[in-house]
Amino acid sequence: MFHCLIVPLFDNYFTATTMEPFDNEAMKVKYMDKKTIEKIKKDLLARKTQIEEELKNITEDDGAGESEHRTKFPDIGSKPEENAQEIGEYTTNIATEKVLESSLRDINSALKRMEDNTYGVCKYCNEEIGEKRMLARPVASTCVACKSKLQSKN
Ligand SMILES: [Zn+2]
Repeated sequence: MFHCLIVPLFDNYFTATTMEPFDNEAMKVKYMDKKTIEKIKKDLLARKTQIEEELKNITEDDGAGESEHRTKFPDIGSKPEENAQEIGEYTTNIATEKVLESSLRDINSALKRMEDNTYGVCKYCNEEIGEKRMLARPVASTCVACKSKLQSKN
């Protein structure tokens, strides 16, 4: 009963969204509907804002622009155990900063690919990566096949 009811609804949904006209420039992304990409874009922008906030908390503004950050050295105190704590925090912050900056780079290049209409296309084989993978990993720029080939080489 449930099956019979839900399937026609989804058929209509997919037909309606994939039948949208595309101009030639956007042909490359025809397999992912614009609404899905818009949704992913919104998520990426939200994540970007969040990362920038986190980076602001652990770095000093050195005026070098948004891609360069300098990890703050915490000033807890001058006792030996406080110094050790400062160094510990500093080390953690450097590691966190590296992770955040690399996520930020991934997000920015994903957003750039959306602008260029190459989002969801594998950078190695030029085949579509697939909506399922893009939803699971919105910053992916390689398809599963190319990624596993690369990993087996390393
Ligand atoms: Zn590929």
